Amino acid sequence: MESLNSFKIAQQQVEIAGRYLQVDEGVLEMLKQTKREVIVHFPVKMDDGRIRIFTGYRVVHSPARGPAKGGIRYHPDVDLDEVRALAMWMSWKTAVVNIPFGGAKGGVQCDVKAMSLKEVENMTRRFTWEIAPFIGPESDIPAPDVYTNPQVMSWIMDTYSILKGYSVPEVVTGKPIELGGSQGRFEATGKGVFITAAEAARHLGLSINGARVAIQGAGNVGGVAAQYFHSAGARVVAISDSKGGLYNPKGLDIPQALACKNQYQCFLTERVNAEEITNEELLELKCDFLVPSALGNQITAEKASKLDCRMVVEGANGPTTPDADAVLEDRGIFLVPDILANAGGVTVSYFEWVQNLQELLWSEEEVADRLQKIMCKAFAETLEISQKEKVHMRTAAYILGVGRVAKAVQLRGIYP
Ligand code: NAD
Repeated sequence: MESLNSFKIAQQQVEIAGRYLQVDEGVLEMLKQTKREVIVHFPVKMDDGRIRIFTGYRVVHSPARGPAKGGIRYHPDVDLDEVRALAMWMSWKTAVVNIPFGGAKGGVQCDVKAMSLKEVENMTRRFTWEIAPFIGPESDIPAPDVYTNPQVMSWIMDTYSILKGYSVPEVVTGKPIELGGSQGRFEATGKGVFITAAEAARHLGLSINGARVAIQGAGNVGGVAAQYFHSAGARVVAISDSKGGLYNPKGLDIPQALACKNQYQCFLTERVNAEEITNEELLELKCDFLVPSALGNQITAEKASKLDCRMVVEGANGPTTPDADAVLEDRGIFLVPDILANAGGVTVSYFEWVQNLQELLWSEEEVADRLQKIMCKAFAETLEISQKEKVHMRTAAYILGVGRVAKAVQLRGIYP
């Protein structure tokens, strides 16, 4: 039986990369662990007057290349091992796109869909207060992830600023533009997914125009990626959310489908020209690009043998298990791995942090231009390693990411 423990999977991936790197064994062991794990149990006053206790995490994997960076997830399945894995992946991701950050991640075990906005705000503010001694613009900078958004980032920024006694916009990224957010940050991850998919298509001699695309997840990553594919003339044949999805072999009207989801909080087949499809079925659709953009461990080895796509572009973090990776490789399905495909978000988060620190405002064009260059360079460097070492793109991205972090650790040395 395949292990679906994200942290074990993340550690296994480091071991694989280690086989291709000349790295001290002790350093590799160090990189297979996290640096700091903060667990907080905290009370929140709910709307009915009762006090509920929530559990939250903030984990730093490695600050070797710069301040730790990573999102905060609100989901009932959040646990320490998941946050550890996500923090580790952030270290490799920031290294793959070569921005001067380390890796971190956080989360609160909760079901925001069953909470009022006020309860989510109270929970966010108290969680921020609990982790405030450990975050900061020079040490660890949160951002949005699953079921957190620019509004949640505003509350984090406000609570942290109240504690400091002055405004500290640079403590968090993914803020609304009005609070020091960057142009292009909201679109950045989905756009980066599209940019790397287009680079992969160019490499394989595949045209985006008319290509079939299936996207699991319709949030910040999946929804935005769908819009970019649609605007480039691709046929987005399916898109889903946690309840299931829409399917039309001729291509969905993506702006209409997303407007429906926005208005009714779900997809309604009767409002758009589409059939209903389950998340399971979506993954098996015949398509050119399969873009998992929801949660982890969606493509297991068993599922991988049923995929009918030319390439998988991972909008989500950790959607494919290592056993599934081997199946994809055997089957010749091209892969744009998560630490490359979805690195656009952290890249523009870096731009946001730089602008905040310097009190500058970059134009949308400036952000777009820099993002395009960084994503294309990271894709080219990963592809080059993949061809040189004759390894799958995941291993190539790990060789690049782990290699850069290991180099930083070795240059800094072990204290004392
Ligand atoms: P989001 O909260 O905006 O959207 C999540 C989407 O996933 C929603 O459409 C939701 O309905 C769907 N979903 C939830 N459970 C599902 C299930 N069981 N099956 C199918 N769909 C389900 O979150 P997001 O920011 O778009 O994040 C999605 C993925 O992308 C996560 O893996 C996240 O770690 C990763 N990611 C996000 C960013 C970012 O900047 N937001 C950056 C890098 C990676």
